[in-house]
Amino acid sequence: MNSIVDEIKKLKIEKNAIILAHYYQNSEIQDIADYVGDSYYLSKVGVDSDADVIVFCGVKFMAESAKILSPKKTVLLPNEEALCSMAVMARADEIEKMKKEYPNAKVLCYVNSSTEVKAISDVCCTSSSAMNICRNIQSDEIIFVPDKNLGSYIQEKVPEKRIILWNGFCCIHNNIIPEDVIKVKEEYGENIEVLIHPECTKEVRELGDFVGSTGQIIEYASNSDKKEFIVVTDVGILHELRKRNPTKRFYPLNMVCNNMKITTIGDVYNCLVSLSNEIYIDEGVRIKAENALRKMHELV
Ligand code: SF4
Repeated sequence: MNSIVDEIKKLKIEKNAIILAHYYQNSEIQDIADYVGDSYYLSKVGVDSDADVIVFCGVKFMAESAKILSPKKTVLLPNEEALCSMAVMARADEIEKMKKEYPNAKVLCYVNSSTEVKAISDVCCTSSSAMNICRNIQSDEIIFVPDKNLGSYIQEKVPEKRIILWNGFCCIHNNIIPEDVIKVKEEYGENIEVLIHPECTKEVRELGDFVGSTGQIIEYASNSDKKEFIVVTDVGILHELRKRNPTKRFYPLNMVCNNMKITTIGDVYNCLVSLSNEIYIDEGVRIKAENALRKMHELV
């Protein structure tokens, strides 16, 4: 009898499908994916692929971004309950009100947001591209939504712009306090490097030897001469870190995004069998959101 993994491989060929997985997914999902990466990388892969079907193993806003950029493709989210708690913290109607308060500001929107929020934004960014886009955007005043922590990090790096912050955050990253990092550091000694995602608070970021997106953390650790690292982001990233660096040691904090871990191999199999859980987006909203996402690729 074929294993479920063999069946998924057969279905992929039959349906001309690819599987994309975010670094925060469970390791068995990452292992069956055609491409694993951060949201910026995966958004490009979806566009460049000639597959008819994209199975997006991540959270809903990621699958929506794939659909926005590849409207003719069938985009499936294997588990419809995979939502991002940060993405629901910003509503389009509330941002419209803020735009009226700051009429000269451009809206820069982190991709961890709904399609409706992207549609009323001037440009999108990911955590890896946020800094460049902030520098390149044609405005001195920027409303940054929804992540106040990433927004404050960009403000530190791009002081020449005025950044107006939205009060959103990622529950997983925002919950970490400096003492959590200090405790692990004391356990493993001074010679260890601390790698931190910019969705963490400023007080936590200040403890980092390196601050960057998931993709940048993996690059940094892979190129570093150091052998031991504390990783301050979702534990899913450890799978790729250990795969690429089998002789190095990585110590996680207790950071688990359950929304990212909800997708199972069974969900992937089921949605491929029946092409279920398809993402649909109103075409008028999609076109506006696409403009903001395409500008991200232009301005990066
Ligand atoms: S880790 Fe945070 S920002 Fe990322 S998907 Fe989970 S809730 Fe959203």
